Amino acid sequence: MKENTTANEIYGYNGKMLMVDLTSRQSHWEAIPEDVLKKFIGGSGLGAYLLHKLCPTGIDALEPANPLIFVTSPLVGSRLTTSSKFAVVTKSPLTGFIGDSLSSSFMATELKKTGCDALVITGKSELPCLLSIDDGHVEFLEAHDLMGKTTSETEKAVKERMGHRTRVACIGPAGEKLVRFASITNDGGRQAARTGPGAVMGSKNLKAISVKGTHVVPVQDPDALNIIGDDLTQRSLGPATEKYRTLGTMANVSVFNRLGTLPTRNFQQSTFDEAESVTGEAMHQAHFVKNAHCANCTIGCEKILVTNDDGKKAQGRMEYESAFALGPLVGVADSNTVIRASTLCDELGMDTISTGVTLAWAMECSDKGLLTPDQTGGFSLSFGDGDALLEGIKLIAERRGIGNLLAEGSMRASRKVGQGSEAWAMQVKGLEMPGYEPRSLKTMA
Ligand code: SF4
Repeated sequence: MKENTTANEIYGYNGKMLMVDLTSRQSHWEAIPEDVLKKFIGGSGLGAYLLHKLCPTGIDALEPANPLIFVTSPLVGSRLTTSSKFAVVTKSPLTGFIGDSLSSSFMATELKKTGCDALVITGKSELPCLLSIDDGHVEFLEAHDLMGKTTSETEKAVKERMGHRTRVACIGPAGEKLVRFASITNDGGRQAARTGPGAVMGSKNLKAISVKGTHVVPVQDPDALNIIGDDLTQRSLGPATEKYRTLGTMANVSVFNRLGTLPTRNFQQSTFDEAESVTGEAMHQAHFVKNAHCANCTIGCEKILVTNDDGKKAQGRMEYESAFALGPLVGVADSNTVIRASTLCDELGMDTISTGVTLAWAMECSDKGLLTPDQTGGFSLSFGDGDALLEGIKLIAERRGIGNLLAEGSMRASRKVGQGSEAWAMQVKGLEMPGYEPRSLKTMA
């Protein structure tokens, strides 16, 4: 590995990026010009610039040359509340355009402490790989033993191997199977999921990345930053964020249902007649375990929920987007099933929104006489069928039976099935729509 000694001196940044080629198992550092850092601020901005510069024209998203870019921003590593974010930017296997997916917590701060502002991964490892970055030192480690593991199993195994201070980003079985909406998971369940970066990571035979470091990025005026930090902390504890501190984003379910903006049964309705059982209030009362915080966050919008029925216990983070996509959108009103479905997606490493929207498309196909059990190998999908929802998620992650078609996402699946089903594939340029009904929430349209 070649060390770069000409990094720029610029406050808030390391001034350099780490370039990793999995094919040759080589890495080197490159300085990022100061004018680039100033023009393209933040994870998504710098990531989009780097993708534009580094991604060869016309390649398929799953080709080795597609760069998988992890990018932090100037405030990452500061003590400012909610600043611990990173972007994963790559050519999206769902859309074929720029894919920009945000995640947060200690993976962001630790990545910056390794000494880079961006980690750019290209190529494809011949064997399953665990990429280790320890204070800027890169190692390509064997990862055969990690293959097939869920995201939490992978994170646990990598931490046991690399030390518990290590931060881990990894894919689950869905990423290994190149499900086009596979996610990258970090910090015990945070997800970079939208636009399918986990499929790109899987296409590179890269199961996990472990990072740790000690670099401290220079701040121009630490006293001023402290004053701003105190002010933001105070404001983060005020009424504007109360909803996030109490019910989290799950509070949206009942509000959106009242407003008629809760996408239901594949966007055929905008209110859900059984919403009462999956509102933030109901879920909090019946399933709440604890709040969780990203690194340096004083709000703590994450709600950890657990099932409370006789079935197999499932516990995990629950957000509005997961609740809408695996509840009202597929007609499921059983809160335990919604928690189980969301946790299953997180463990298998799939975007909950794209999973729910693609399954909802398939359910509407079944309703309309397409995708009969004969065509699906005996698997039957219908709105409100919780068991079918859970089985459908597993089939997609394993690309088994009808799951192989659905793993392509709703746009490609509908083009294959045809017969007018493209009309109810609720996607824009290949990306499944989030939980906001555009006909009533007009700013969404
Ligand atoms: S806990 Fe919620 S509010 Fe805080 S940084 Fe994480 S996502 Fe943002």
